Formats: sequence, structure tokens, C-alpha cells
Amino acid sequence: MLTIGSHLSIAKGFTAMGENAVKIGANTLQFFSRNPRGTKARPLDEKDIAGFRQICEENHFGRLLCHAPYILNACSADPGLRDLARDTMADDLARMEYLPGNLYNFHPGSHVKQGADAGIKMIAEMLNSILKPEQHTTVLLETMAGKGTEVGRNFEELAAIIEQVDLKDKMGICLDTCHVHDGGYDIIYHLDDVLEEFDRIIGLKRLKAIHLNDSKNPCGSHKDRHEKIGEGYIGAEALIRITRHPLLCELPFYLETPNELDGYAKEIKLLRNA
Ligand code: FE
Ligand code: FE
Ligand code: ZN
Repeated sequence: MLTIGSHLSIAKGFTAMGENAVKIGANTLQFFSRNPRGTKARPLDEKDIAGFRQICEENHFGRLLCHAPYILNACSADPGLRDLARDTMADDLARMEYLPGNLYNFHPGSHVKQGADAGIKMIAEMLNSILKPEQHTTVLLETMAGKGTEVGRNFEELAAIIEQVDLKDKMGICLDTCHVHDGGYDIIYHLDDVLEEFDRIIGLKRLKAIHLNDSKNPCGSHKDRHEKIGEGYIGAEALIRITRHPLLCELPFYLETPNELDGYAKEIKLLRNA
């Protein structure tokens, strides 16, 4: 059975979020660790977490994906902003131990004209300062569309980050279909070639999650604007093929399409019944 869910709001707590997931036919979900455009996190409510864990167990949820705030930049030119990224992610990982065995995804960062190599080095240094051998969370680098000075615009940059991380077993990749398509990888007509390239450069064993999104822009546009499944340039057929591919079908899929709950429910149904 396909493991699929969507990004859901945690504004009303973990338990309410889990109930919403069940309501839309999901068996996993993604949530922000805190306000995506801020860095404040509310204190954890252990009863709320316990209720959520029970929902996940009863409904046989796959691995959950926690997404770091967008504004963090581990390779900012400003050391204060780099510290903020490090401290926030370290705190997120400590909180993730209340939900052991799950995934934590972040956007590698933007090197803001310092050059990709300098950015890669700073991102790896940050990871080396926060990853712990005893943690139960796998940290994922998200594949990026390559807008502006984003690091992680191709498989080589992501591989270079992992190469410089000491605790490689704690590291993985989250492949965003909109981002790689916008980044110039032809997942519509040459999916097997793209996966072969991923395997050669990063290793498919590092691939732990898929963000399943259509794109408002053509392949190679470097834009990063998500579209509803079947309403963009990638199209439903190619996205369904991704969920059914023998190398990918066991992975968890997370929708980040522009939808409310009912829209997510429809897309999950479409993808399950395809
Ligand atoms: Fe993301
Ligand atoms: Fe994404
Ligand atoms: Zn995106």
C-alpha cells in the first residue's frame, strides 16, 4: 500500500493534525517544526504528542516528515543568521526525539554569492555540530529548484554536502518532484535515467522521502512554484508513474500542492486508485 500524506497544519496541535490526516485518507504526513517564517516554537505538550502517536500507530502511519522553517539559512554570509539556523535545527532535533524514528527535512540554504563550495562547507559544518550518534531522526537535504543562489540545485551539490558530514548514517535526501523538474531533471520522459544518475552521484539508499508536487513551470525553469497534481507541467501520469516505480514505491510520499484538506483528500484518492 502506498504511503502517502500531505503537508498539514500543526496550529491546533499534534492530535488534531493526526485526526486530519486520517480524515483525508493519509497514512503519513508532513508538518512544520515551528512557524515556517519564524523561529519561535511552542512548548511540547506530552499528552498531545501521546494522542498523536496513538493515531499514528492505530492507522499504521509510515515515517513522519518534519520540515524546518524556510527562513533558516545554514550558509548565510551573516554569522548570526548561521548561528540561528544551527540553534533552531538543534532544538528541532531535540524535540524530534519525542517522535523517534522519523524524518527531518531542510532546505540546504542560499550561498548569497559566496559560491556553492563555500555554502556546501558551511552547511556540512553546521550538520557536524548538531548531529548526534544517539539521535533517532534521519536528517534530509531537500533537492532544490536552483532559484537564486540555492545550494542543492543538482545531485552533485547534495552529494558534496553529505561527503563532508561525519555521521553519514544520519543523513538522507528528500526528492521534491517540482524542484528537480524545475532544476532541469526530466522526470517526465527520462525517469529511469534520472534515478540512475541519482544512484551514481548520491546513492539511492540515501533517498528517504518524496515531495510529490506538480509544477507551474516547464522543466529547467528554476522557479519552484508548486501546482496541484495533474494541473501543471509534470502531469498526473508522470507523477503516478513515480509512485509506482519499483525503486520508489516503498518510500513515503508527501503532497505540498496548493490545496485545503478536501483538495488533498482528492489527490490522495486519485494517487491510491491510479
Ligand atoms: Fe521544502
Ligand atoms: Fe518540497
Ligand atoms: Zn518548493
